[in-house]
Amino acid sequence: MTTATPAPLCSCGSVAAHKIARRQTADGIRLDLWSDGTITSGMGFMLQGLGAARSDYEAERDVEAGWLLFAEVELYDGAEVARLAKCARKAVRQRSDSPREAMLRYFRGERVRTMKAGRTFRWVA
Ligand SMILES: [Zn+2]
Repeated sequence: MTTATPAPLCSCGSVAAHKIARRQTADGIRLDLWSDGTITSGMGFMLQGLGAARSDYEAERDVEAGWLLFAEVELYDGAEVARLAKCARKAVRQRSDSPREAMLRYFRGERVRTMKAGRTFRWVA
């Protein structure tokens, strides 16, 4: 019996999860994107509400969403990142023509709903 070699998750060829990018939010929270699509804070905690990928396919999509998020994340506070990440994953899942625009549109919609629920956001310029 032969066992199939697992497909590499990363373009570097490594199959073990490893950090592939680091960014910092507007309020100074350090974030890491991992080769399996996981996003952790500088303290090593996974972002709240973002489940881990259950398959290589999901991991690939989560990495794509992670890059979408990391292109924008320095404009946002740490408190907004989990919601923005969820919107990035939704944009990638729905295969939008313009995933960045879709992510931001979803995020704006989420913000409106959240503000109606009575929460407030503090914007720092
Ligand atoms: Zn790699």
